[in-house]
Amino acid sequence: MSADALAARTADAFAARFGRTPAGVWAGPGRVNLIGEHTDYNGGFVLPFAIDKTTTAALAVRGDRTVRVASALAGTEAVEVDVDGLRPGSVTGWAAYPLGVAWALEQAGVRLPGFDLLVDSEVPVGAGLSSSAALECAVAVGLAELAALDGRAGLDRRALAAVGRRAENDMVGAPTGIMDQYASLFGSAGSAVFLDCRSKEVQLVPLVLDAAGLVCLVMDTKVSHAHATGDYARRRDSCTRAAEALGVPLLRDVPHDRLAEAQQLLDDETFRRARHIVTENQRVVDAVRTLRIEGPAAIGRLLDASHVSMRDDFEISCPELDLAVDAAREGGALGARMTGGGFGGSAIALVPAAGVDAVRDAVWRAFASRGFRQPELFTVRPADGARRLL
Ligand code: ADP
Ligand code: MG
Repeated sequence: MSADALAARTADAFAARFGRTPAGVWAGPGRVNLIGEHTDYNGGFVLPFAIDKTTTAALAVRGDRTVRVASALAGTEAVEVDVDGLRPGSVTGWAAYPLGVAWALEQAGVRLPGFDLLVDSEVPVGAGLSSSAALECAVAVGLAELAALDGRAGLDRRALAAVGRRAENDMVGAPTGIMDQYASLFGSAGSAVFLDCRSKEVQLVPLVLDAAGLVCLVMDTKVSHAHATGDYARRRDSCTRAAEALGVPLLRDVPHDRLAEAQQLLDDETFRRARHIVTENQRVVDAVRTLRIEGPAAIGRLLDASHVSMRDDFEISCPELDLAVDAAREGGALGARMTGGGFGGSAIALVPAAGVDAVRDAVWRAFASRGFRQPELFTVRPADGARRLL
């Protein structure tokens, strides 16, 4: 569905639920991380792009202090609260994302009116495409714009990214980094978002897949690992330990040529965790340079190397992700890797447009022959960041 059609559907659903037309409809895209996994909390580099699947937020202010939020997503319930009663712990479930944004905006000095909100989305939930940041960013740009209509100061996109993260960290209680919100807010059609997670400096890097005759195929394995949160925390602990042993604030500060020394200092597992971060950071820098000089067809080997590093050193892959990556490569992909936090979710493959059916077939056949549940396969392209649609 086009963004405009989704916006019209969202406005209709808003009118059906709240009995009036919305003041506007805003979009926040999901994202794919092209390369740079688990480097964010190590102060390193990431290279995500906003995708052409968005979450939409239809909004209208109210004359009182009541907030009503509803979503078209199956299984969600509408919630009604007082805007002055918002604080961490006051809301649970899906509504903690949009209401966390409202709370974080107020914490950042934006005085919000009461409002009605209806959310719709084409971003699959829990597939590693950050439906959570898509939701936060759609709501954040919409509320910030509505609040600014009264002549109140607005917030820039960096501040809105911090608002989205704060909502997720403090209201939802998920200890996530800043990458997803930056991708959703700074994305641009035909570009990837090169983010230095320490300085928060952003550079757009050309990623024009169509002109290069390529597509990005997402392979959603539909696997979710029950222990992913604990494993994530353990990976973070390993990185902190390695940085301490090496006498640096963050692993981002370890140059490649200190790896031999690191191997002497650290136990084998901690060393391999650190090696993934150090080499992955370098791969992001290499991917940016390669995209600028040679174009996307030349980054395949970096994607492959990234996957091997996550599989063997950081140990965050799983049999389904490994199979998707291997089958895609055997089917003709130029490169492939798991993307997102790991232990399930999606992998991506960079595929010549003419060969995408062969890759799909190869992946489906491989999953069938192993008796795995069939993955969901779809293509995405780099798209614009959060914006007003209607
Ligand atoms: P993802 O990888 O998709 O970001 P998360 O677990 O971080 O997975 O976020 C998914 C959660 O975000 C959902 O369980 C739900 O609470 C919320 N969410 C995302 N999109 C929507 C939506 N369209 N409507 C309601 N809630 C949503
Ligand atoms: Mg998320």
